[in-house]
Amino acid sequence: MNCYEKIGLQRVINASGRMTALGVSTLNESVAKAAIEGGSSYVVIDDLIDKAGEIISKYTGGEDSCVTSSASAGIAISVAGIISKGKKSIIERLPDSTGLCNEVILQKGHVVQFGAPITSMIRLGGGVPVEVGMANSVAIEDVEQAITDKTCALIYIKSHHCIQKGMISIEKMVEIAHKHNLPLIIDAAAEEDMTKYIKMNADLVIYSGAKALEATTSGFITGNKTLIGYCKKQYKGIARPMKIGKEGIMGLLQALENYTNKDLVSYVKRQHEIVSYLNDEISKIKGCSAREIQDEAGREIYRSQVVIDEKNVGKTAVEIDKLLCEGNPSIHCRTHLLTQGILSFDPRPMVEGDKELIVEKLRKIVEG
Ligand SMILES: *Cc1c(COP(=O)(O)O)cnc(C)c1O
Repeated sequence: MNCYEKIGLQRVINASGRMTALGVSTLNESVAKAAIEGGSSYVVIDDLIDKAGEIISKYTGGEDSCVTSSASAGIAISVAGIISKGKKSIIERLPDSTGLCNEVILQKGHVVQFGAPITSMIRLGGGVPVEVGMANSVAIEDVEQAITDKTCALIYIKSHHCIQKGMISIEKMVEIAHKHNLPLIIDAAAEEDMTKYIKMNADLVIYSGAKALEATTSGFITGNKTLIGYCKKQYKGIARPMKIGKEGIMGLLQALENYTNKDLVSYVKRQHEIVSYLNDEISKIKGCSAREIQDEAGREIYRSQVVIDEKNVGKTAVEIDKLLCEGNPSIHCRTHLLTQGILSFDPRPMVEGDKELIVEKLRKIVEG
């Protein structure tokens, strides 16, 4: 029994990915240990924030970095930092930014929600989102014509949630921003490459700690030293309710170290082992055929894709997914091809014992 079952909640098997709704990721032992150690002594928090920024920057190539409680907090803090430019009187009146230079330009195809709206995070930092272009088509002049003396920044959302075609590239957004002496913020919350966007000359880049890095709940902003300084000052203002504790910071630093030393070979080998078990066992179930497929975006992710012969089974994939989620354990698979009769299982978030429970429950649903 895990600790959640002990307090009366269902056991959840996450076979879908880094989902906030399921708890994002699990902690590796060294990260948990770092968090316990971090939580077991006192430290001057401002010094810890500075030191953590220094260490994070070694991994990202940013001039400096600011730890946050999440990537969403990173967006709000970046915007607040840019609007207040370190000025105490402004820090203390945000998020009310009436009369200040507070407009943040973003492309209409980037106005998405990742579980909460991007625009809410901009507003939380005192920003006023200015959407430019159309949902599926944005031109350079759409951005340039929206720039006024009220504009304080441009933001680019790098995410599978966004419209991918018809948008202006990061390179172009950097060029436009810098031509107008404005900073470009990139929300790279779920991205795996920690150095790429700094190399592309973005001024502030935001990451989530618990996603690719599998850290304690956390995040960070990395980039331009002056702007990062403005961001850190928000902890005396709007960032206070978003604070990250010492234990969260130490967990994040350990996760960054682990991520850099990640053994890709054994990471992929573990995926193949789980997928191969699932494929063999699931293919023995009536009306189910399973095969290994690589991630659509070409990343080193291998999943078990199960095609349901809906006539033979007498249930649709949509119905099967619903039954997998119901009851105990509650099993969550990838569902983007569900209406085509396909379920897939991502081995990365699975913990010991999960694969056997998946086969057992699927067999019960299909064969009764
Ligand atoms: C997940 C995500 C966020 C939020 O990250 P948190 O660390 O959960 O706050 C923001 N933007 C994008 C594009 C995301 O995918």
